[in-house]
Amino acid sequence: MAISVQEKFSIPYGKQTINQSDIDKVVEILNGPLITTGPQVMKFEEALSRYTGANYAVAVSNGTAALHLASLALLEEGDKVLTTPNSFLATSNAILYVKAKPIFVDICEDGNIDLDLCEQYLQKDPTIKAIYGVHFSGNLLDQTHLKALKNRYKVMILEDCAHSIGAENLGVKAGSCAFSDCAIFSFHPVKNMTTGEGGAITTNSKELYEKLLVLRNHGMVRKSDVAPWYYEMHTLGFNYRLTDIQAALGISQLSRLDKFLEKRRAIVKRYHRLLEETPVKPLYAFDEGSA
Ligand SMILES: *Cc1c(COP(=O)(O)O)cnc(C)c1O
Repeated sequence: MAISVQEKFSIPYGKQTINQSDIDKVVEILNGPLITTGPQVMKFEEALSRYTGANYAVAVSNGTAALHLASLALLEEGDKVLTTPNSFLATSNAILYVKAKPIFVDICEDGNIDLDLCEQYLQKDPTIKAIYGVHFSGNLLDQTHLKALKNRYKVMILEDCAHSIGAENLGVKAGSCAFSDCAIFSFHPVKNMTTGEGGAITTNSKELYEKLLVLRNHGMVRKSDVAPWYYEMHTLGFNYRLTDIQAALGISQLSRLDKFLEKRRAIVKRYHRLLEETPVKPLYAFDEGSA
């Protein structure tokens, strides 16, 4: 039977790298007593906060859940949020989930939101509450510019790092939240590392961190001083928990992330070199710090 061209040559949308060590770690958890949120999730959160440099990390069921919880914590109904039209739909949907209002700001040639235009919006309208920026395809937004906007306009900043875990700009690591209130990550298989489905939020704010923990778990607050089983519901929350099965995969993947990045960078470099003599031009200049 003839093989069609498509069968011989197809470029997958994405392809994860899973090795035997990843599999062993997951099997170990499957054979143990706890498979949902337990010690592996805590270890994964510690590893994420160490890797990004942020004080706190909260692991959740996917990147969209991370955006939803961050939006519940940062925004109120009717708030105006500057965001980018060049992203996966989840970034702006999260603003709508909490009945806030996305305002789409045009992008620069590198695919990222134009921070000069953001500044014009902020000058004209001081009621704008937040900027939801996306480090598109691994290129970080200019961190000095973010810092200036944060200081000048006291605006909330959320960094969508779904494409950019491991990226660096001017010595600032993606998700360290040096000049932002929080950052979100996705561990869908198409991203730089995977947990199957999964996501996380990083922040340096203890208050935000504590809010997120409650929102991730049905709005429940345990009061073990009353009784070990006693809890109260303090707010309308969700079940956005990650499992220990996924977290074990996440820990294993994160330990190899820098190798994944090295390989991606080598591939990008190769594209840039080989396309040089062709009419096809890469969309962005090569950036060592991109993820
Ligand atoms: C993938 C992605 C998300 C959503 O992540 P999920 O884990 O698929 O829910 C959000 N923002 C951007 C920029 C993404 O690429």
